[in-house]
Amino acid sequence: MSLIRISPSISCLPASAPPLSADVGMVSAANVTWIFDVGSNEDALELINGIKGEKRIVLSHFHADHTDNLNRMETGRDCKIYGGGFTRKKFGQKNIEVTEVNKDLYFDGGIHLFPIPSSHTKGCVGLEHEDFAFLGDSTYCEVKNGKAVYNAGQLQGLIRTLKGLKASRLLLSHKEPLECGREEQISMLEEIYSLREKNQPYIYLKS
Ligand SMILES: [Zn+2]
Repeated sequence: MSLIRISPSISCLPASAPPLSADVGMVSAANVTWIFDVGSNEDALELINGIKGEKRIVLSHFHADHTDNLNRMETGRDCKIYGGGFTRKKFGQKNIEVTEVNKDLYFDGGIHLFPIPSSHTKGCVGLEHEDFAFLGDSTYCEVKNGKAVYNAGQLQGLIRTLKGLKASRLLLSHKEPLECGREEQISMLEEIYSLREKNQPYIYLKS
């Protein structure tokens, strides 16, 4: 599997299955390589270990297909890691320090990290750079008793977060093609939100 160039400063190693391994994003900005998710397969591990110079890691959320290589990385422990509060808690139990992204954070080279309300899981974080935003799995639903479901409040927060971004292109994990438009993604999520029933916290998707 090979790295796909998204823009002059952004590239992406697509997800694989099996083994299930999420997309790994790489953004070069101000002499730092920002790694968005570390995946869980050998290809991703090799790629990350081969990056020279200063690296920083952003974990979109704690799920193993996005984070497992952290446990196997040569350099994982000496570069700064960012993630949501829930991710920080999960990795704190393994003595891996994660800096919490609980508000918009801006870094040299135009890197923007932000928390994302999500039905998929707690502690989702995104990375925006130029015209692109990595969102991990945050736009996906959760599965409750075998049913695909969105939490209405989280979905509303997600839509608000997407509307507040500047990037017109989104990079969602496990998706082919890798990119999609922000406007079309917002329309799709708004359509789902419109299906909510009064006083119902969950929106069940028809299968
Ligand atoms: Zn996930």
